[in-house]
Amino acid sequence: MAVAAAAKIAEVRETTRVERIGAHSHIRGLGLDESLEARHVSQGMVGQVSARRAVGIVLQMVREGRIAGRAVLLAGQPGTGKTAIATALAAALGHDTPFTSMAGSEIYSLEMSKTEALTQAIRKSIGVRIKEESEIIEGEVVEVQIERPATGVGTKVGKLILKTTDMETVYDLGGKMIDSILKEKVQSGDVITIDKATGKITRLGRSFARARDYDATGQQTRFVQCPEGELQKRKEVVHTVTLHEIDVINSRTHGFLALFSGDTGEIKPEVREQINGKVAEWREEGKAEIIPGVLFIDEVHMLDIECFSFLNRGLENEMAPIVIMATNRGITKIRGTNYKSPHGIPLDLLDRTIIVPTTPYDEKELREILSIRCEEEDCQMADDALTVLTRISKETSLRYGMQLIMTSSLIARKRKGHEVEVEDIKRAYQLFFDEGRSVQFLKEYQEEFMFNEMEEEEKMDV
Ligand code: ATP
Repeated sequence: MAVAAAAKIAEVRETTRVERIGAHSHIRGLGLDESLEARHVSQGMVGQVSARRAVGIVLQMVREGRIAGRAVLLAGQPGTGKTAIATALAAALGHDTPFTSMAGSEIYSLEMSKTEALTQAIRKSIGVRIKEESEIIEGEVVEVQIERPATGVGTKVGKLILKTTDMETVYDLGGKMIDSILKEKVQSGDVITIDKATGKITRLGRSFARARDYDATGQQTRFVQCPEGELQKRKEVVHTVTLHEIDVINSRTHGFLALFSGDTGEIKPEVREQINGKVAEWREEGKAEIIPGVLFIDEVHMLDIECFSFLNRGLENEMAPIVIMATNRGITKIRGTNYKSPHGIPLDLLDRTIIVPTTPYDEKELREILSIRCEEEDCQMADDALTVLTRISKETSLRYGMQLIMTSSLIARKRKGHEVEVEDIKRAYQLFFDEGRSVQFLKEYQEEFMFNEMEEEEKMDV
């Protein structure tokens, strides 16, 4: 048993570790000041100042609920931080605003149609804030009785008499309330609150009225004034769920357990229509409000013409989220057609899109990012090693440079070194090819590979 428990703990730790060193785990926000200007290095973000400032304005508009149905395109070369900026936006939005992240290629699945996958992604990005009133009653306990079954087994029953300003009320105690009472050690003279929605009882302290008795026994207790006047307090409880969650819960074929497995399949249009109607009703009654969130589609050039047209129409819906797209493609074919267009996105969608360009980093910025990553990956690196790594990243790519952090750190550890030296970086660089050298290698040894389809004239340019 103990062994199993230990194994479980180890497993959990491992998961947190994996998460902690994810590709963007060093990013904690957009790194903007109060006037939405980007600080050069802040919250794990480095440089890319104008793109961050632009996304900061988008953030402000989302917060003010003024950006529903717009589209933003982050366009720039690979490794210029497009995904990083979107991740930073998600972190800055907070928990209450839905943020969905997907790659363009994710819509191609055998389980559901492309438009269904897009619809689900859109509805995951629309929050419904539902307000509920819960009654909290505050008063002084006159008497509490709990009867344990004589046999010691079975359910306990009990009664609680609670005095509020003008009356005493007798409550029949259910299991949850009894557990609460026993846990809080509630007795006569205590001032408590009862949350009627959840049955939770909280002991606030003892009433002034009985303070003297307890002083005499020398008991250490916190005294609170037995509340006079407004004893029945109403508290508003707010939950935020997404439209997709409501869809899944109400879709009888899937049930809410599907939310955990993610295996929701296709949801019937009738279910969605009913839910839209219900949500509209709640909005009118002031019970709910819609929070347009953010849908981030990375590698958006992977979508095809049907998806683009669906997305374009979807943006016109009054409940639409803001769609942020990212691509590293220039002028290229729109999937599913023979037409070319900027970023592989049809012109009518581009027309309603704000484009935010990202630009390559200079050496100083690369060094800063790599140094943040070293810290994130618990890797001590000598100054000159970091200089070499920066140079390599400049010549190859930032992503490749980042890969070398962990690999060179393992090499250093193997030789029992305390920090990564230039030699370790060199060794890792020799062991693991970047894209350029890998293509070179393939060109040199193409005859020895199976299924080599590279024609003489088609040979790639390195
Ligand atoms: P691609 O076009 O290939 O998808 P991308 O523009 O989305 O590339 P990212 O994946 O965001 O690039 O960046 C590559 C790595 O560099 C990531 O680990 C990212 O967190 C980090 N990074 C990029 N830009 C910055 C930045 N300005 N500050 C901090 N880290 C950054």
